Amino acid sequence: MRLTILGSGTNIHPTRAASGYLVRTDQTILLDFGPRTLVNLLKTGVNRHRITHILFSHYHADHFSDFITYFFDAMIFTKYQGGTRPPLTVIGPRGTKKFFRALFATLPGFTHAPFAVHFKEVADRAFTIGKTTVIPRTVTHTQNLHCLGYRIEYGGKALAYSGDSQYCDSLVRLCGDVDLAVLDCSFPASRPSPVHLHAGQCGQVAREAGVGRLVLSHFYPITERYNVREQAGEAFGGKIVVARDLMAIRL
Ligand SMILES: [Zn+2]
Ligand SMILES: [Zn+2]
Repeated sequence: MRLTILGSGTNIHPTRAASGYLVRTDQTILLDFGPRTLVNLLKTGVNRHRITHILFSHYHADHFSDFITYFFDAMIFTKYQGGTRPPLTVIGPRGTKKFFRALFATLPGFTHAPFAVHFKEVADRAFTIGKTTVIPRTVTHTQNLHCLGYRIEYGGKALAYSGDSQYCDSLVRLCGDVDLAVLDCSFPASRPSPVHLHAGQCGQVAREAGVGRLVLSHFYPITERYNVREQAGEAFGGKIVVARDLMAIRL
């Protein structure tokens, strides 16, 4: 399994794209699709027209907005440039179908794509894509919003992605004994937010879950001024990686 970080920042960040991750198993899967991550996806050399599954954690714009550009491009490619592509399955939390129904009904041409598009709402039940197992788990982020973290298992390895999350038991369970956990490190421990983890809590989750490697990601600009590795390391003695865009990690 290979993970490429497409974006390790948030909506507006001077040097990082927002949330997006490319996971390669027997499948090529996108986890979230925030602003500026599409440009980084092109830089990986992956054929964007072969992507069959996009998994969304939630629909805050920093996790979603490049989907619109991506889908519009896919329509141009298949309608006017002689291209073909496999069906696209969009998977996300409760509200996914309603959200995309409204979006597709509003954006010109979106309901007339010449390829199949499927929308699937998932909660806390595992499913497979080919030989890859995906375990979504509800995490706590903002009030009244269903947010998912994802655990992906393939070839005897496991990766967890928190999406956006506060500290919660569910997140610790999601990350249980994974080889690699990518956690929402929006803020430093000294400038916490009520709806995101801070660096110290990332370390706490990694320790409690028995994570192999901890990847800190989803940085707000202010967080760049602090030593998040050191803050996470106060709770977690394992390997800590500070994410960079286009960083590739093999599991
Ligand atoms: Zn969010
Ligand atoms: Zn976010």
